Amino acid sequence: MTRLLHRKIGAPLPHAVSGQGVTITDSAGRSYIDGSGGAAVSCLGHDHPEVLAAMKAQMERLSYAHTSFFTTDAAEELAERLTALAPDPLNWLYLVSGGSEAVEAALKMARQYYVEIGQPQRRHIIARRQSYHGNTIGALAAGGNAMRRVQFQPILPETHHVSPCYPYRDKGPDETPEAYAARLVQELEQKIEELGGDQVMAFVAEPVVGATMGAVAAVADYFQRIRALCDRHGILLILDEVMCGMGRTGSLFAFEQEGVVPDIVTIAKGMGGGYQPVGGVLLSQQIYEAFRDGSGLFQHGHTYIGHPIATAAANKVVEILTRPGLMDQVTHLGTRLQAGLDAALGQSPHVGDIRGRGLFRGIEIVSDKDDKIPFDPARKIHAGIKAEAMAEGLLCYPMGGTIDGVHGDHVLLAPPYICTEDEIDQIVERLARAIRRVTEG
Ligand code: PMP
Repeated sequence: MTRLLHRKIGAPLPHAVSGQGVTITDSAGRSYIDGSGGAAVSCLGHDHPEVLAAMKAQMERLSYAHTSFFTTDAAEELAERLTALAPDPLNWLYLVSGGSEAVEAALKMARQYYVEIGQPQRRHIIARRQSYHGNTIGALAAGGNAMRRVQFQPILPETHHVSPCYPYRDKGPDETPEAYAARLVQELEQKIEELGGDQVMAFVAEPVVGATMGAVAAVADYFQRIRALCDRHGILLILDEVMCGMGRTGSLFAFEQEGVVPDIVTIAKGMGGGYQPVGGVLLSQQIYEAFRDGSGLFQHGHTYIGHPIATAAANKVVEILTRPGLMDQVTHLGTRLQAGLDAALGQSPHVGDIRGRGLFRGIEIVSDKDDKIPFDPARKIHAGIKAEAMAEGLLCYPMGGTIDGVHGDHVLLAPPYICTEDEIDQIVERLARAIRRVTEG
């Protein structure tokens, strides 16, 4: 009996009672390797002593002070740290409590920026189909995840969508990555021209798409062309790093590997490592100055922004993420994970693609590998893999979704950065058994 409204009603869930390192244990004493860090959240495992100590110290001093009266050392230190780590001109941090809030704030920031600089006609947001930016109304509108949007469509603010960069399915067999990138950017340019170049305020994208595609990075050149196009039309580039940021791909920010700097970047999940609900928006000097020299405020805010315990946790998490060697470890373990998955599943007739960066890997499941034909959605392959993986003592993040009317199943892996090589190998073995049982059964 439960009085909690769970997402899936009537599906009983085990009770998680403790976390040790990369493992979660339930009330029946079963342990699970956290191969997805929840939803790419728990980057430092579940009981990091230094993060717990930082939270405890803050809690004993001050739990809460509203940001209309006070700032705190914890919040100021976090802003100092993140803006020092982010490339110029991302010199300012706005704090929120999670990913959807970060995206909402980013969209409002873009809109207010244009109002402040005297271009109030700019109101269109362009994003990509098969993207996920959160579940609140504005963030859901920006996202292109058809399944999550469908029943809310009539109440979503208007947003425009273009094709994602999805080489496995969309790059022509004889098309070079450069030609593919050029084609996608041309499609975006057409959309901008259709809407009127001076009417568009922002283009929003995940550097590595997480929840709706399973760790799909763009081809080389794509983001540089996007950046140049946005600059040509005076459009802000918002990169959503809620899932792929904070070291997940082997660099603190995923966009560092693309050779571009966005005007606005959203972060959450790994920023608090699951120890606290916390997120942020990094914004450019130019946007900050428009607010400062214009109305003198950002017309936004929530009760829990800059929460002292959340920011104390994030401050420690980010400090640990930037210690020498940790990003190299993410890259090294990620390469091992990819190699293990290739060896265990690469020959499976039901594994179409294994991809990703760092400790952010995705596996696309198909019924026919040669023709890339997905399984019938009625088979709920993703749900079966999740259940079988849990029976194996593994948490992974499988999803099924539809783009342009085509259903697909994939599995996302996002283990903590503190995994051992043996734990990475265990993830591969357990997942391979689960996938084989479901796809071949
Ligand atoms: N943006 C991206 C890229 C995400 O992956 C998510 C969550 N999966 C969100 C935004 C929303 O974050 P939250 O669930 O913390 O609101």
